[in-house]
Amino acid sequence: MSTLLEVAPLLTRFDPVIGTLGDAPLVKRHLTDLRGCFRDADAFERVLAKGNPLVYSVAAVEPAAGDGDLHYGLGIVHPGMVGDEYFLTRGHLHTWREAAELYIRLSGEGVMLLEDEATGESRMLPLLPNTLVYVPGHTAHRTINTGDVPLVYLGVYPAAAGHDYGALAGRNFRYVVVQHNGQPCLQKREQIHD
Ligand code: ZN
Repeated sequence: MSTLLEVAPLLTRFDPVIGTLGDAPLVKRHLTDLRGCFRDADAFERVLAKGNPLVYSVAAVEPAAGDGDLHYGLGIVHPGMVGDEYFLTRGHLHTWREAAELYIRLSGEGVMLLEDEATGESRMLPLLPNTLVYVPGHTAHRTINTGDVPLVYLGVYPAAAGHDYGALAGRNFRYVVVQHNGQPCLQKREQIHD
């Protein structure tokens, strides 16, 4: 008979530089994996012509679990730009749309882009020292590094949440976060800044 204490590891060590989290597999996303995510396709090809940089990594602890359990992941988004757009994660909705998530910044500087799936209402929220971001259900979310060093964060979500990347694959987020006068700025995707 298994006991409650065997359901999930009670103590997990993480490495905020390498990005490992316990024994969880380290998933790496390079620039080629993010084709179509950035607004400026020409800038994307120009960056890619110089190499295929690692953009982000995620390690998630997701054991088979019951309804009340939690899953969690350690993410690292590396610094970099594609045109005026910062390096970012692909972003997702949760398969179980009601599932919320808590993002806790560990180091670096960045923002989260949130988008209400039904209304398209979007928000840019800072991941700065002594802040955390609550992502409600039914909200697409993407993490963006706006600084010069890796952005490291923990995400904690219901074990039943699941990840739905497909819903955004066709249309992408309605807004982009671009650098304008040295600051992150939220713009509609179609709007080209000169
Ligand atoms: Zn999530």
